[in-house]
Amino acid sequence: MTKRAYNFNAGPAALPLEVLQKAQEELVEYQGIGMSIMEISHRSSQYEQLNAETQSLLKELFAIPDGYKVLFMQGGASTQFAAIPMNFLKAGQVGGYVHTGSWADKALKEAKLFGETKIVASSEADKFTRIPDVSQLALDPGTAYLHITSNETIEGAQYQQYPDTGSVPLIGDMSSDILCRPVDVSKFAMIYAGAQKNLGPSGVTVVILREDMLQDTPKNIPTMLRYETHVKNNSLYNTPPVYSVYMVNLVLKWIRDNGGLTAMEKRNREKTSLIYKAIDQSGGFYRGVVDPGSRSIMNITFRLKDDELEKQFIKESEQHGFVGLKGHRSVGGLRASTYNAVPYEACKALAEFMVDFQKRNG
Ligand code: PMP
Repeated sequence: MTKRAYNFNAGPAALPLEVLQKAQEELVEYQGIGMSIMEISHRSSQYEQLNAETQSLLKELFAIPDGYKVLFMQGGASTQFAAIPMNFLKAGQVGGYVHTGSWADKALKEAKLFGETKIVASSEADKFTRIPDVSQLALDPGTAYLHITSNETIEGAQYQQYPDTGSVPLIGDMSSDILCRPVDVSKFAMIYAGAQKNLGPSGVTVVILREDMLQDTPKNIPTMLRYETHVKNNSLYNTPPVYSVYMVNLVLKWIRDNGGLTAMEKRNREKTSLIYKAIDQSGGFYRGVVDPGSRSIMNITFRLKDDELEKQFIKESEQHGFVGLKGHRSVGGLRASTYNAVPYEACKALAEFMVDFQKRNG
């Protein structure tokens, strides 16, 4: 057995060991075809089948209702930041954004390049330590859509409840928490996620789009950035990221075989409560960045009393086999990313390490 590190990377991030082993087994020869999946045409029946199976696995696992398309696109979630206003924000309309942190900000900045935007709710004044109250949003007439970031990967804040936007299409960037828990997909007109946290490796962006969103979309935008192109061609307009889609397929099967999203959520809550407990019971030695009511079950952000001690923590954690605990360079501090594929044992080991580190340095 190879020794696997305790991987708390924020993304690309841990993949399930069973998935990597299955990929290894099929790397040289995929299902008796005499070559790998990377070496065949994306127009082949084998790839078409993989494409279709991956879409239906996601529909089944995420309970996506009829009337939605599952697309596999490229360019990362960052490209969606632009594609959304290009496709859905028309002259005279306003793109609504909830400003919850670094990724919401990037989505908003991109939309500003294309049209009118409005910050409908924000937690900037609280340094993004919570998700703002979105229970009573007053959306102006002419709001083209409301964009939210379901989990702020850098700050570590996650929606516990999604806003009710009535007839205004709700669009969710779920890059860092898709499939971490069941979601009522019918609340959303569109959900998108770069794959490299909970879905697989980087290279593919999953888009779940309600079909009525395609009515009256402009034709003067680049072909590859038009959702219509990908819907019409079933994500096979051009060469798709075949291997990434293949890996997503394996990850979806792993989630299904491990109890689906209800089981994922239960396990994620058990995993993160070990670490949040180590923070909350430390008497202030560790300080959680985010208000308890907005804490993420994917990215746990915390601080120590000063930079020096944080550096010491990272150094020692690395010596103990923990990887990826340094906070994002823009905010500093510490962050443990506990995506679906991060094992319970890794979180338990981290919680124990934290208690031990405090004993030695407290
Ligand atoms: N949104 C969120 C919430 C993210 O965490 C990330 C990546 N860390 C992105 C968008 C950007 O994704 P990509 O790198 O795939 O463009």
